[in-house]
Amino acid sequence: MRKIVIASNNPGKLREIGQMLAPMGIEALPQGTFGVPDCPEPHVTFIENCIAKARHAAAHTGLPALADDSGICVDALNGAPGVYSARYAGEPRSDARNNQKLVEALRGETNRRAHYYCVMVYVRYPDDPEPVIAEGAWHGEIIEEPRGVGGFGYDPHFLLPELGRTGAELTAEEKNAISHRGQALRTLVEKLKALG
Ligand code: IMP
Repeated sequence: MRKIVIASNNPGKLREIGQMLAPMGIEALPQGTFGVPDCPEPHVTFIENCIAKARHAAAHTGLPALADDSGICVDALNGAPGVYSARYAGEPRSDARNNQKLVEALRGETNRRAHYYCVMVYVRYPDDPEPVIAEGAWHGEIIEEPRGVGGFGYDPHFLLPELGRTGAELTAEEKNAISHRGQALRTLVEKLKALG
């Protein structure tokens, strides 16, 4: 098995990524295994933060590294909360306070369009001049009243109009099949296969 480091310690993400890479003979190891310290994420774009995280993990481990970054972008808020999605309502991070702030920010707004965005970056070395980059976007609308108990983050307020359900009303399998993260991961796997 070829080892790569994943620049995340989130168990759900690690499981999903590990399952998709294992058939390619790739063993995905969490960066926590190597004691990689948290990477600063000072940038205003997902891609810049994601490249920084991948480079950081590769530099600390000497292994190829895969990082992901994601968030929700709301049209009427010029893309906010964007890269600040996890900490939209400040520290300590709270999904409940983030959702409350988002609902307040859109009070009376008729344009409810929003999308989740995810980017994944794979680098072979810290200074890899050709990072492999894959993106995914998942479009929906922000609703005032939360619905559903699945998912996490903004999912109870993220309505898929064509399904008539929120992200929190989907099973994990249904969500993975269409979500921003599922799209990005499948695209990345295809690109890695093409690289050989
Ligand atoms: P991260 O990429 O794990 O740092 O996620 C950034 C933040 O974006 C999360 O803390 C959530 O607030 C939000 N987010 C990203 N993906 C999702 C999702 O699939 N559902 C709900 N919220 C999400």
